[in-house]
Amino acid sequence: MNVTSPARAQAIAALDAVLPGGGLLTADEDLAPFSRDWSGDHYGHPLAVARPRSVEETAAVMRLCSQRRIPVVPQGGLTGLVGAAVAAPGGGELVISLDRLDAVRLVDPIDFAMIVEAGCILENAKKAAEEKDCLLPITFGAQGSARVGGNIATNAGGMNVLRYGMTRDLVLGLEVVLGDGRVWNGLNVLRKDNRGYDLKQLFIGAEGTLGVVTAAALKLFPKPARVETALIALRSAADAMALYARARRSCGDLVTAFELILRDGLEVAIHARDDLPDPLERAYPTYVLMELATSAPIDLRALLETFLTDAEDLVADGVIAQSRAQSDRFFLYRETMVEAQGRGGRYLRTDISVPISKLAIFLDDALRDLRQLYPEALALAYGHVGDGNVHLNVIPPLGATPEAMTSLFEKAEHTIFDVVDRLHGSISAEHGIGRLKQKAFLSRTEDVALDLAFTLKRALDPLGLLSPGRILPAPANPET
Ligand SMILES: Cc1cc2nc3c(=O)[nH]c(=O)nc-3n(C[C@H](O)[C@H](O)[C@H](O)COP(=O)(O)OP(=O)(O)OC[C@H]3O[C@@H](n4cnc5c(N)ncnc54)[C@H](O)[C@@H]3O)c2cc1C
Repeated sequence: MNVTSPARAQAIAALDAVLPGGGLLTADEDLAPFSRDWSGDHYGHPLAVARPRSVEETAAVMRLCSQRRIPVVPQGGLTGLVGAAVAAPGGGELVISLDRLDAVRLVDPIDFAMIVEAGCILENAKKAAEEKDCLLPITFGAQGSARVGGNIATNAGGMNVLRYGMTRDLVLGLEVVLGDGRVWNGLNVLRKDNRGYDLKQLFIGAEGTLGVVTAAALKLFPKPARVETALIALRSAADAMALYARARRSCGDLVTAFELILRDGLEVAIHARDDLPDPLERAYPTYVLMELATSAPIDLRALLETFLTDAEDLVADGVIAQSRAQSDRFFLYRETMVEAQGRGGRYLRTDISVPISKLAIFLDDALRDLRQLYPEALALAYGHVGDGNVHLNVIPPLGATPEAMTSLFEKAEHTIFDVVDRLHGSISAEHGIGRLKQKAFLSRTEDVALDLAFTLKRALDPLGLLSPGRILPAPANPET
């Protein structure tokens, strides 16, 4: 829709009528916070921002958009980083922000389940679960901004996936507003339910292209009473992965995190904050943050100490946190590295995965290729290696022009994805496809899979109004 057309004015007036009490934003200064993502790299110009306060209001907005053929983009906390949650740069898309639909409807410590609205900030959902001595295990750096609907739409992972699974594994039921404004109420807390197709799976990881999630029933777990963390130094990524394989056997499913940081990344954190000294006496090429947790009366400290002593052929040095505060400090190195890596500027982000058995090979090959081909850039690798998932980011040299950066990022991404392809991995393990990775995704997806994806999209969104151009290209001739 042309942003200055009379049709726009009519659409705005109609939307205003279904969103009483300031639920529709149209002034430029009001749109600004909804127009740029966490990184600042992705921005667009929405037609307006709808902020429904209930599922009924969300449905009314969607019905109206369907009648008037207004494209929409559902929005959570804007931490997704693939250009999916901001409006397209050309204008014309209505952002549906779920930020006012943020209630925790239920926490049930007997069902070990909660029902939470899509706009609830992940950290708030986690706190609500903790108040009932339960754990919502989705855990990652942006949890203070990301919202539950965004977590579902991106099938978020995080640090505890190796123990509890991805968001997909934690969703028991969903409530979704469909493209025509109907509401599908699939909210239930059943653990077992084999009544026909598992419809909720369609919307998980769909990046808002198949429906607007308004609420979710999520699995909870007992809140761990004991947590032990170790910062471990190793001579190589291969040793880190060998240690992980051993930990899976020796510590069972008590391993809740196994985070890899290479020396370059640790140095970014050390230089960024005066209060973060080198954590060990000497520098090592590779570090791992390993966490064990349980609610059972098990001597976790003894288990961790025995494990590390038995693994002395792999472990070069290490320290076990003596308190929760010290454990938080270990994780602060990781968080600081993530925040400081780009020096406030643009950099190439990737979130690839390969089979766990190939992860050390991936790191060796990709880092070697990047350093050979782009010696002026800094390549940083870190990640949730227990899931075979690594962020391999490329930071341009200081003073690089915007054109030089764009060219570097394109070439470096090819270099990284070539290694991913060779090892039969995935170009996106976490952030999704959005608009940013569409070309790379389409070129790697076989015809049958693409045909199924287009069929699904047409079936659920025949007018092509839901997040057009994300994951799949916008249809040339949507049904009118
Ligand atoms: C510092 C940092 C660390 C991160 N670490 C991790 C990590 O460890 N693991 C991981 O998986 N991700 C990680 N991410 C990525 C990101 O936080 C997740 O993808 C998150 O789940 C996105 O949630 P959001 O609310 O910010 O969604 P947004 O960015 O607002 O939206 C993301 C996508 O979801 C769609 N969407 C949002 N809400 C809805 C809804 N209600 N219904 C339908 N579609 C919707 C949007 O249209 C868009 O396509 C990280 C991001 C940052 C900035």
